[in-house]
Amino acid sequence: MDGGRRVKATFLGSGGSVPTKKRNLPSFVVRTDGGLVMFDCGEGTQKQFLIAKLGFNREMRVLISHMHADHILGIPGLLHSMSFMGRTRDLEIYGPSGICEFVKCTTETVKFSPMFPVRTVEVRAGNVAKTPSYSIRAAWADHDIPCLAYSLTENDKPGRFYPAKARELGIPKGPLWKTLQMGKPVKVGRRRIDASKVVGPPRKGLKITYAVDTRPCDRVIELASGSDLLVHDGMFSSDASERAREYGHSTAAGAATVAKRSRSRNLALTHFSAIYQDTKQLLAEAKAVFPRTIVAEDLRALELP
Ligand SMILES: [Zn+2]
Ligand SMILES: [Zn+2]
Repeated sequence: MDGGRRVKATFLGSGGSVPTKKRNLPSFVVRTDGGLVMFDCGEGTQKQFLIAKLGFNREMRVLISHMHADHILGIPGLLHSMSFMGRTRDLEIYGPSGICEFVKCTTETVKFSPMFPVRTVEVRAGNVAKTPSYSIRAAWADHDIPCLAYSLTENDKPGRFYPAKARELGIPKGPLWKTLQMGKPVKVGRRRIDASKVVGPPRKGLKITYAVDTRPCDRVIELASGSDLLVHDGMFSSDASERAREYGHSTAAGAATVAKRSRSRNLALTHFSAIYQDTKQLLAEAKAVFPRTIVAEDLRALELP
């Protein structure tokens, strides 16, 4: 046992504003040791969620960036599908002002009550949630309506456990191994054995920041500081920079500047305008500023070490 999986993340939708043949509307899911964290829930997310086999009854939180249709219209469908698939666990949905009313209205007017508890929470910049596995912070992005960027920071994890070393020291498999994995010492006969003899150094939790529908902005740079992965609005190429500014979005190069200035390790561009058949130009423009850039593709899974 190695004390925790690698974090996996999946883009369920990488388009912006309207879907295209290849791109669904925004949604990005991170699998943590404490369940799923979904960022945005564009229309059709329920189907992508099913295809990605993310599991309808896992611990899960949904973080909504803002109240534009392309980021929230998937919620009613997702709730309905989850009910249909037999979800029993609570689901928490966080978002800016309006999110509670939206969820209430849609479930009331559509005459459907989810078969599991749904808790909606209106949030602002600052601490949003803290769980035994991770914490979430938010900052105001720079869009044409109030829009939140979020960062998810995993708690540090215990170091890797080495069963061979434990056996060598004559520690029987069972509860004592568990205790050592938690970093605590054990007693075998009259010997006291410290965890450091069989467990490696603690591993730093990952930080992932999600900022879509935003112009490049200092608040996001600060929020994203030192992220292992920054998922950022890269809606336009630089020849459309006027348009990006006007509508509250970023160019690919603008996103790359945010990655660079926040000292993030990796950048994933997303929320692409439907005017682009492919993302080659966007990727090239971002890479010129920040080489460790990838472009989001629907159902593309990332594994973060
Ligand atoms: Zn959008
Ligand atoms: Zn928007």
